[in-house]
Amino acid sequence: MAVIGIMSAMQEELAAVLAAMPDEQRVSVAGRDFWVGHWQGHSVVAVLSRIGKVAAATTATVLLERFGVSALVFTGVAGGLGSGVQVGDVVVADSFVQHDMDASPLFPRYEVPLYGRARFAADGVLSAQLIVATQQVLRDAERHLGSDTLAQFRLASPRVHHGLVISGDRFVATSAESQGLRLALPDALAVEMEGAAVAQVCHDYAVPFAAVRTISDRADDAAQTDFQRFIREVASRYSLAILSQWLNNRQA
Ligand code: SAH
Repeated sequence: MAVIGIMSAMQEELAAVLAAMPDEQRVSVAGRDFWVGHWQGHSVVAVLSRIGKVAAATTATVLLERFGVSALVFTGVAGGLGSGVQVGDVVVADSFVQHDMDASPLFPRYEVPLYGRARFAADGVLSAQLIVATQQVLRDAERHLGSDTLAQFRLASPRVHHGLVISGDRFVATSAESQGLRLALPDALAVEMEGAAVAQVCHDYAVPFAAVRTISDRADDAAQTDFQRFIREVASRYSLAILSQWLNNRQA
């Protein structure tokens, strides 16, 4: 039976996934707890990604090598960069770039040395399925979050976006830095700290990968505001609902 790997960036997201798995067993590898079990009839291994490119790449490699997952889905939060990518929206990645990769002049800026490329694609089929699931959840955002939370975070009509996600080992929390990223990589929709690394690992193993990121901030001077509360009350609920909807659709 195909095993699905689920990487959560946030402890709160993982806790919500584990609460939905009836039979998870903990297996510790490389200082990480991997949770092996079932969710809606699918074989699943759930794990906290850890933060940053190297930590997330290690987690992904263990999922692939030790647990033999045949698809990997990442959920987390990200800073919105693209115009119209607002807090409370969701980005499903179609490709990834490491925005802090620079081996120039030996290799072009952003190119990962010896790969001959800067961009790593997300799996088209998985991503399309996740877009459908996200649309279903966002259409019904009030049921998933409650009207108080919707009002408090001013999430009027959350939208799903599909495009480039950029990753680097920096929490981007100044307008100057996010503006610099926008100029350098104009098609980037969102910035985070893990996706491009996991995409590279999955490329190496030829295993389909997709990523869903709830926008928690605009990567600007206000990026720290209510971060933990947003994760708890919005992002982890979206992640749970989207993954659950996705698994449910796959069964149908
Ligand atoms: N300072 C934060 C640290 C969170 S780490 C805190 O108070 O806890 C940031 C996590 O959210 C990473 O998993 C990263 O992928 C994502 N993220 C969200 N917004 C981001 C941003 N503006 N820049 C970089 N990563 C961001």
